[in-house]
Amino acid sequence: GSFPALGIEDSIAKALMHAGYKFPTPVQRKSIPELLSGANVVMMARTGSGKTAAFLVPLIQRIRAISDSNWAQGKVIGIQGLVLVPTRELALQTFNFFKSYAKYTQLTACLIVGGEALEPQFAALATNPNVVIATPGRLLQLLNEVRTFSLKGVRVCVLDEADRLFETSLIQSERAVKKKPFRQMILVSATMPKELADFASADVQDHILIRL
Ligand code: AMP
Repeated sequence: GSFPALGIEDSIAKALMHAGYKFPTPVQRKSIPELLSGANVVMMARTGSGKTAAFLVPLIQRIRAISDSNWAQGKVIGIQGLVLVPTRELALQTFNFFKSYAKYTQLTACLIVGGEALEPQFAALATNPNVVIATPGRLLQLLNEVRTFSLKGVRVCVLDEADRLFETSLIQSERAVKKKPFRQMILVSATMPKELADFASADVQDHILIRL
């Protein structure tokens, strides 16, 4: 098994090679083909399993394909990918992974996290990034304050460390990611408490469950 054998295109496989990833981890082997096909996925995976690349790599590949076809059709491109995480540290780490995996693509991401000045985040949003990596509170604040910022074009939505995410902001998270039929939903969690299992069965429709 290699990343290209899972369906990952050369420019992304090359970036993974540069990151020192020779072979996909078990969770990557299981989830990448499903995610590339556009399926909704509930992934039971913990830190250290390679879960971040397991969802970011297919996200990058799919969003790149969508944005290329939008460009070709002359359509305006808004936010296409949303990754919601419970803490700013995790957001920053995810943002750095994104930059490393997407370095041979044109895709850009921006970080929307609490505890930092608003101005640079307004400015980052104004550059029209493809992907937003966010913590829930600040995301909701900017959705309220920035008139041109909307999640309605989001095609891939990831709730990472969803168990922790739901501990802190259950209602807000649910509202922010309100399901759309065309939207791929990916829920990643180390544990599956009842509220999360209920959310998954109601809002991550027809999902494939991946656990090791
Ligand atoms: P995560 O589970 O996403 O927190 O990733 C844990 C660590 O594994 C990170 O330092 C990644 O850079 C690394 N990693 C992820 N996928 C691979 C891979 N296929 N080969 C080697 N290292 C990896």
